[in-house]
Amino acid sequence: MKLGDLEFWLITDGTFRLDGGAMFGVIPKPMWQRVAPADDRNRILMQMNSLLIRAAGKWVLLETGAGDKWDAKRSEIYAFEGPPKLPEKLTARGVPPEKIDMVINTHLHFDHCGWNTRIVNGEAVPVFKNAEYVVQRGEMEHAKDPSERDKASYFPDNFVPMEKSRQWTLLEDDAEVIHGIELIRAPGHNRDMMCVKLNGGGKTVFFTADLVPTAAHVPPAWIMGYDLYPLTTLDNKKKWIARAARENWLVIFGHEPKTPAGYLREQGDKYVLEPVTLEF
Ligand SMILES: [Zn+2]
Repeated sequence: MKLGDLEFWLITDGTFRLDGGAMFGVIPKPMWQRVAPADDRNRILMQMNSLLIRAAGKWVLLETGAGDKWDAKRSEIYAFEGPPKLPEKLTARGVPPEKIDMVINTHLHFDHCGWNTRIVNGEAVPVFKNAEYVVQRGEMEHAKDPSERDKASYFPDNFVPMEKSRQWTLLEDDAEVIHGIELIRAPGHNRDMMCVKLNGGGKTVFFTADLVPTAAHVPPAWIMGYDLYPLTTLDNKKKWIARAARENWLVIFGHEPKTPAGYLREQGDKYVLEPVTLEF
């Protein structure tokens, strides 16, 4: 899809599963299972959505999925599915990993930065050797010293190797990293997670990351139990969803498997998604 000179493609690192109760917080199961059916282990299907972006002569990859540094036990817990995975998909698209100029991680949970690295000779090394990697400084600091409540989401192998290779750019706040690519702090899920706004040709795309992980999370109270600051999530959701609807932005959800992109239309006191198919 084109926005003026900027062009982007939706790609995924396949699907995984998380506990439905944890994904919907205070919403009772009889309500959420109508829109996100649980499997026999109470898990719901999620997709790891990434964007490949061409802007200002650069190749940019937003989010790098879960990667392949998984042992059998954890692969089974998260039910990763859907190969071929991200690097192979990029190569098939004619943009092999070494051609990527910038990698953006909205935050450093394992399902957003897994392909940052892969294991070579027993050691985690950067997959995108020529790229600048971008995240908020606050998120990097937290990733290295997480709380007991969220440490299961952070794996140092996903972010420490690019310190050694000096590939990190750590942001202090919102930033337009490349003309047309705006990174916006949207706290709630954690303190420094970012959403991403693409602008060009008079059009706007809004990538929600985990602020609104799936289309089912559009109603205000449908907030993940994982979120560290749920009332901040609530404020930021109301702010950005209202703006996306009012200004006719194409919304792309971080983890939606069935309708990853669409326009939100205000209907009475709620928003209805009008899905858009993005071809890779
Ligand atoms: Zn996530």
